Amino acid sequence: MSGDRLVSARTAIVTGAARGIGRAIAVRLAAAGVAVTINDCSHSEELESTARLLRSMGSRCLIVEGDVTMESDVESIASRTLTEFGGIDILVNNAAIVNVHGDWTEITVEEWDRVQAVNLRSCFLTLRSCHSALSTSTAGRIINISSITALTGQARILHYASSKGGVMAFTRSLARELGPEGITVNSVVPGAIKTEAEVEIFGDLQDAPTILEQQAIKRRGIPEDVAAAVAFLASDEASFITGQSIVVDGGWVMH
Ligand code: NAD
Repeated sequence: MSGDRLVSARTAIVTGAARGIGRAIAVRLAAAGVAVTINDCSHSEELESTARLLRSMGSRCLIVEGDVTMESDVESIASRTLTEFGGIDILVNNAAIVNVHGDWTEITVEEWDRVQAVNLRSCFLTLRSCHSALSTSTAGRIINISSITALTGQARILHYASSKGGVMAFTRSLARELGPEGITVNSVVPGAIKTEAEVEIFGDLQDAPTILEQQAIKRRGIPEDVAAAVAFLASDEASFITGQSIVVDGGWVMH
């Protein structure tokens, strides 16, 4: 996407941006001329490497390490972005965790709570910290990364799929509340995307025939596919789109 299609947006926050989809989103926004705050709570080397890449592209980039479940860390992401860049136009809630189990009986209450906190409560915390800056933007955007597991249902990750359904409901309700302020709120809903996390969780799905069988488009999804949808929703051209869930899955779920 060329810079002129994001004319109003100047600054963005991307959580969980050290690697995978978050990193691709940061790169895509930077390519459109947006100054980007990148956050993560681990993968420090990868976070530095993302920052180096963005700066090599000529983009302004700020690293704010922190845990999106911690109110003080989230406040620091917002306040340091404001100090460094003078505003917040785009908030991308991407950070998430998933732990795969045998079935629901193996999920502990503590783990259930942790997954909801990282994947869903974090969206509420970033809203609280970023809202006043977003509301003074001429093109405020909140983009939440969900998952098709919330639409298809998926065994062995009950906690994760439930949190991602929550992200979609959060998106719709918040869109109704923030629309009058000119802030759009949308979800991007990835299908099976080839990332480091996928390899860690499921092993190398190189050929992934079962995935390709489900998809209408017979190639693996890559982080840049998701980043392209985020960049569109962040652009001025998407100013009349809010409360939506855009599925990026090669035609797996059709709704
Ligand atoms: P990933 O694990 O590579 O990226 C997530 C990042 O979030 C990691 O760098 C991790 O360190 C960070 N993170 C985790 N907990 C955090 C916390 N408490 N505070 C700050 N950062 C934290 O995963 P990914 O595959 O790139 O997924 C990115 C997003 O896309 C997630 O929301 C995920 O649920 C969603 N998604 C991915 C797929 C897929 O197939 N890869 C499919 C559907 C949805």
